[in-house]
Amino acid sequence: MNAVANLSEQARAGEDREPESRLREIPYNYTSLADREIVIRLLGDAAWAVLDDLRAERRTGRSARMLYEVLGDIWVVDRNPYLQDDLLDNPKRRRQLIEALHHRLNELEKRRDATDGVRDAKVGQLLRAAGDAVLQFERRFAELEQMRKKARRLLLKHSREDNIRFDAFSRVAHVTDATDWRVELPFLVLAPDTEVETAALVRACIELGLTVIPRGGGTGYTGGAVPLTPWSAVINTEKLDTLGAAETIASPGVPSGTASIFSAAGVVTKRVTEAAERAGFVFAVDPTSADASCVGGNIAMNAGGKKAVLWGTAVDNLAWWRMVDTDGNWLEVTRLDHNLGKIHEVPVACFELNWKDGRVHPDKAKILRSERLNIEGAAFRKLGLGKDVTDKFLGGLPGVQKEGCDGLITAARWILHRMPKHIRTVCLEFFGQARDAIPSIVEITEYLESTAKSKGAVLAGLEHLDERYLRAVGYSTKSKRGALPKMVLLGDIVGEDEHKSPPRPRTSCAWRTPARAKASSP
Ligand SMILES: Cc1cc2nc3c(=O)[nH]c(=O)nc-3n(C[C@H](O)[C@H](O)[C@H](O)COP(=O)(O)OP(=O)(O)OC[C@H]3O[C@@H](n4cnc5c(N)ncnc54)[C@H](O)[C@@H]3O)c2cc1C
Repeated sequence: MNAVANLSEQARAGEDREPESRLREIPYNYTSLADREIVIRLLGDAAWAVLDDLRAERRTGRSARMLYEVLGDIWVVDRNPYLQDDLLDNPKRRRQLIEALHHRLNELEKRRDATDGVRDAKVGQLLRAAGDAVLQFERRFAELEQMRKKARRLLLKHSREDNIRFDAFSRVAHVTDATDWRVELPFLVLAPDTEVETAALVRACIELGLTVIPRGGGTGYTGGAVPLTPWSAVINTEKLDTLGAAETIASPGVPSGTASIFSAAGVVTKRVTEAAERAGFVFAVDPTSADASCVGGNIAMNAGGKKAVLWGTAVDNLAWWRMVDTDGNWLEVTRLDHNLGKIHEVPVACFELNWKDGRVHPDKAKILRSERLNIEGAAFRKLGLGKDVTDKFLGGLPGVQKEGCDGLITAARWILHRMPKHIRTVCLEFFGQARDAIPSIVEITEYLESTAKSKGAVLAGLEHLDERYLRAVGYSTKSKRGALPKMVLLGDIVGEDEHKSPPRPRTSCAWRTPARAKASSP
């Protein structure tokens, strides 16, 4: 029999009514996950369905709050590695917390109302799920302690102690990349000093059953370096910073007489650019993130930048690269008959693949097997695209554009270019409707491809900045209108003969009307 007839019961029902306006009921849920996702993670889908049912009845107030408090306490520790470390270091405090969680569940148990059988069964189901969650929470500490011990013992055989990082700061620093997505904290972070060590660490991670996530500068925009499982090891490559000099020597994949440069995977992109420039050459891979990205990340993302118009992206400029494959062996890839230009312009691009024993230094390791890849040039990108992000496979070419899924790149040799003698940078500002301005990107490219190129002027780079970007960088217009342009194009036009290059504008050009309008000097 339902006994809500007396006043005190009614008062309790009033107190128990859920406040409707609160979006987050789980305390400490300052994360990007909604309460629903947290309940599902900690208690499971079925428990969420039950909880949702009970909430709809609007009689769950105080009890629900107590349950949320239990979930909030678990959640805040799960998401905060500083608290985890503190509780690992203080078994007494840990015990007190777990006792408090059990105590709250016991209190909930006491509040059960057996008179409403159906409802009480649902409450019982929730309490069992919450009890299991507390037990799992408790077990996770033991598991974490055990796994840390095991991992430390194994990894110490291959790397220095300070390269093996379980501390909260390292884990937090590797929880996300430029996307700012956060899913799981990594179990540990490894920062090897050498290429050889890297292969050994990958093998050890495989033995430990960890998911390996290679990481360079962490500037990726696709979340490729974001751990999706708590049992992951982020391998930070930033200490693999050996950088050769720009040199014209016989090297694997480099046609004779061509300048090239060796770089380990963790070298910051800008450092390669500078080394090339010192010798009078150009390193074509120039993402806007070059001050922070690393060349391993550039290969894994097939990065490009302004110079991609002239010389393509990472894939076009690689002569040779080495990686640790998913078995912990070396895989060396050499481009054969490099065309020193864009890869899609050759009918077939050929690569030699050699797998070597990962337990030995790559220069001394014996070849385990070899394979030759012949990939149709046109397969590397769709017409007019810098890179085709929808095609991760790229004819099965290892490492490039794979976002670290098929191995960890440790080193590469790059083709270098010579910049033509003369360069003009042109700034075009577009006002009015952005949609009218956009076709000019294609028209300028086509014009310089067809007409100007044959006259010796080549489009070396074309950067598009939209209105939001202009606002973000505090762009100041060259026009007297005072308003921000809808779009700005920055173009680099190069040539060997100054007189064949387009005339040097006095300042920048402001194109006031769309594509077909003439450039005018303000
Ligand atoms: C402000 C800004 C501007 C940008 N501009 C450009 C641009 O102009 N052009 C462009 O192409 N991109 C650009 N990007 C995207 C990004 O910088 C590039 O994708 C860059 O190549 C990533 O390099 P990283 O070292 O930071 O890689 P990370 O972010 O560390 O990793 C990116 C991916 O590569 C994998 N990876 C990293 N290192 C290795 C390795 N050694 N072996 C195997 N896999 C590895 C990771 O697992 C992850 O999947 C920009 C990003 C930002 C934030």
